[in-house]
Parts: sequence; structure tokens; C-alpha cells
Amino acid sequence: MILDMFKLDGKVAIVTGANSGIGQGIAVGLAEAGADIVGVGRSDMSETKKLVEATGRRLLPLKADLLSIEPIDRIIEESVKEFGHIDILVNNAGIIKRAPAIDFSEKDWDDTLNTNLKTVFFLSQAAARQFIKQGSGGKIINIASMLSFQGGIIVPAYTSSKSAVMGLTRALSNEWIKDNINVNAIAPGYIATKNTKPLRDDEKRSSEILGRIPSGRWGTPADIMGAAVFLASDAAAYVNGYTLAVDGGWLAR
Ligand code: NAP
Repeated sequence: MILDMFKLDGKVAIVTGANSGIGQGIAVGLAEAGADIVGVGRSDMSETKKLVEATGRRLLPLKADLLSIEPIDRIIEESVKEFGHIDILVNNAGIIKRAPAIDFSEKDWDDTLNTNLKTVFFLSQAAARQFIKQGSGGKIINIASMLSFQGGIIVPAYTSSKSAVMGLTRALSNEWIKDNINVNAIAPGYIATKNTKPLRDDEKRSSEILGRIPSGRWGTPADIMGAAVFLASDAAAYVNGYTLAVDGGWLAR
């Protein structure tokens, strides 16, 4: 039956940056659909753990700083040790640095590209190797952005990284679908999280943004849950290499 295809019972999902915002929403959504969660991040994961456990599923918290690729092997090893297998990877952790391009520093450039792109690639590679070893296929969901499609304002490194995430999603999907690994992305619109707090605190930018969203409101992490469950599920078996906007109509405008 069609609703059964959305169920994630018995699946294990690694979600990076699961301690807050969109990552927390995705972790809870996947758990509600039946998956156990490996919550990867550099900050306290206890709030997400409680929310996941309230659904009856488990959450393994893994401390890792994804600014470098150093923790990647450990993330896969400890996930498999705890749960026996992995089925879903959500590359959600990301940072944004705001400064005019004319003044943008090398450190902010490297930190942004390392976190938002380099780690995404190498963690995907490590997960795909494990999926291939298991012989069970897998799902990789990258978190892209409106700035995978648009230029943005004073965020040159972020736009570069998120535009590349959309390209990488296509590139990996072409290579890995033969191993039954679907690679897709979600491009959230303007979502009320830590990431967008400076925009929401700036009255002028906030009203400009709100005035351009056809849905007439900022999104919430809960708005992203449905797309994440869909792309993680058997219902999306024939969806591959696509970046799905969940943006209240922002891109359609
Ligand atoms: P958020 O609450 O700031 O979440 C970002 C997450 O990434 C946090 O859990 C953060 O951990 C984690 N993270 C950042 N750098 C890390 C590192 N070096 N190691 C481990 N974890 C790290 O903001 P969000 O809006 O939910 O962002 C989640 C994703 O959605 C990001 O990729 C962002 O670019 C993307 N996105 C957001 C929006 C939006 O409107 N909010 C729109 C499009 C795309 P800490 O809590 O420790 O910082």
C-alpha cells in the first residue's frame, strides 16, 4: 500500500547538525516515520535525543566537528557498531558567514567550503562505501538552499558552497544509482532557525524577505520533515539527483 512505502521502520539514519533547527526537525521526522537516528554534531544533542525517544525510536549522539573530515571514519564505524547497518545519510550541518565579497576573509571562505561542501562529499563517500558493502542500497539527502539557485547578498562562500551541493547531488546520483543509492537534496526556503536569526533581527531585510514569500510566512523545521521522509523512503525510489525546494513558493515568484 502506498502509505507503507513512506515507512522507515528498521532503518538507521545519520543526521548531521541534528542538535538544532532543520537537522533537529529532520531527525524527529525520520524517527516518527520509524527510523533510529545517529545525531552527529559538535554541540549537546540531549534535546533532540529526548524528542526522538518520545517517538519510541533511539538516538545515538556522536560528537564530531565537521569543519574537517577527520571524524568521518569514526562516524560510520560507531553507527554500524551501535545499529548493525546504516540506510540514510542527511548532510544537514552547515554554516553561513556574512560579509561583503570585497572584504571576505580566507578563513571564512575555507571554513564555509570545508563544512558545507568538502565534508558533505567525503561523508557521502564513506556512507556510500558502507551501503555498497551492505548490498542494501541507501539514501543520501543533502541540504541545499535558495542560494543553490540564486546569488544571495553578502554570502559569497555560502552561495558557492550551496550551488556546489546541488551540482554534487547530481554528480553522485549518476554514479551511485547503479548501487541502488539515491542521492537527492532539499532546498529549504527561509526557515526560522539560528542560521537566519540575523536576517530576522534586521527589520528591513526581514520585511523584504517576508514580503517576497508567497506563503506569507517564514518556514519552520517541521515544514522540511515531509520532504525528508519522502526522499528517505521507498516512495522516492525513482527520484534521483533532484533538488526539491521547500520554500513557500519563493523560487516560483
Ligand atoms: P542551525 O540551527 O544553525 O543548524 C546548523 C547545524 O549545523 C547546527 O546543528 C550546527 O551545530 C551544525 N554545524 C555547523 N558547523 C558544524 C561543525 N563544524 N560540526 C558539526 N556541526 C556543525 O541552522 P539551520 O537553518 O537549521 O541549518 C541547517 C542547514 O540548513 C544548513 O546546512 C543551512 O545552510 C541549511 N539551510 C538553512 C536555511 C534557513 O533558512 N534556515 C535555508 C536553506 C538552507 P551548532 O549548533 O554546534 O552550531
